Amino acid sequence: MIPIAQPMIDEKEKENVLEVMDNGMLAGGEVVKKFEEEFCSFINCGYGAATANGTTALHAALKAVGIEEGDQVLTTPFTFIATSNALLFCGAQPVFVDIKRDTFNLDPGLIEEKLQENPEIKALLIVHLYGQPCDMDRIRNLVEKYDIMLIEDCAQAHGASYDGRKVGTFGDVGVYSFYPTKNMTTSEGGIVVSDNKKVIERVRHFINHGATGNYHHEFLGYNYRMTNLEAAIGRAQLKKLTKFNQKRCQNARFFAHELQGLDWLQLPVTGKNRRHVFHLYTVRVKEREEFVNYLGKNDIGCGIYYPLPIYKQPLYKKRGLGNINLIEAESAAREVVSLPVHPALTKKECQHIVKVVKSFASRYEGELFVN
Ligand SMILES: *Cc1c(COP(=O)(O)O)cnc(C)c1O
Repeated sequence: MIPIAQPMIDEKEKENVLEVMDNGMLAGGEVVKKFEEEFCSFINCGYGAATANGTTALHAALKAVGIEEGDQVLTTPFTFIATSNALLFCGAQPVFVDIKRDTFNLDPGLIEEKLQENPEIKALLIVHLYGQPCDMDRIRNLVEKYDIMLIEDCAQAHGASYDGRKVGTFGDVGVYSFYPTKNMTTSEGGIVVSDNKKVIERVRHFINHGATGNYHHEFLGYNYRMTNLEAAIGRAQLKKLTKFNQKRCQNARFFAHELQGLDWLQLPVTGKNRRHVFHLYTVRVKEREEFVNYLGKNDIGCGIYYPLPIYKQPLYKKRGLGNINLIEAESAAREVVSLPVHPALTKKECQHIVKVVKSFASRYEGELFVN
């Protein structure tokens, strides 16, 4: 089976981890600090605080920019649950707006409509989904025009850029995840980044029990810290991220070239001025269940990200947030399938994926299994 995701770990990660083990400083410390500096320098951002995972990074980032109980925050319904759950952690209320059919990212036109209709909205929490940056020209204009805060969830977009500028640096604060399926990993892990030193200071306090000095606790915080072991993996991974992303893009170009023109298959679309890093290669098909089964029978692992808009999740329905109907998010949730595009794929595996996908439409005429 070709897996939908596969972390690439080699000798360098192992060496780095062993070095930490030999050194004995397992929890946070110098290695975390180095990783933070190196990651910030990679995305060209002033300050960063590494965390236990992307979800805790989101929670800390929202708190650090001042999202509080009762605040309304506009966000996308088409993302991993962690994005909007982080709003719930703060007691804030997610306000969902529909996505664009072609890019799966928030629709700036609809964001503006909602901001006009609801002047209470305090912030915008955007997600650069599947590795593709949002329309940052239009979003930045809206943020200025309506004087709201901008938080970027970059958990799927390490290295992605808009007009040459890396995601995570457009807003008040940005957040990354280093879960093993992402474009780079630290095992579990995350980071909050910002050009505002104060924001990152607040994050540091928040992820360390609200401590502003040695055993001096100003406010309620948590233990959300990254360990040196995790940072050691991350330092090795970061050096390879550009190569990983190049391979992802190369695989995506191969699929785009080989799969073009099939009338039953909608391929990914990249908006202008964007460097898409293909965390996922997501296509749309009407007969999704059959398609997924067919891929599985032919040893291709695939994934559905995501089968439900957030507001249709039981948790959100119970909280009275389910009474909306966002057409594009619902249509995407019914039709999307992500194919393997990760850098561990061999040429042969890419060719196999192309062959199997192409044969789906003629499965009744020809062979059921492709070899
Ligand atoms: C993975 C992911 C997160 C959460 O990251 P974890 O490290 O798994 O906690 C948040 N948002 C998005 C869009 C993600 O893909």
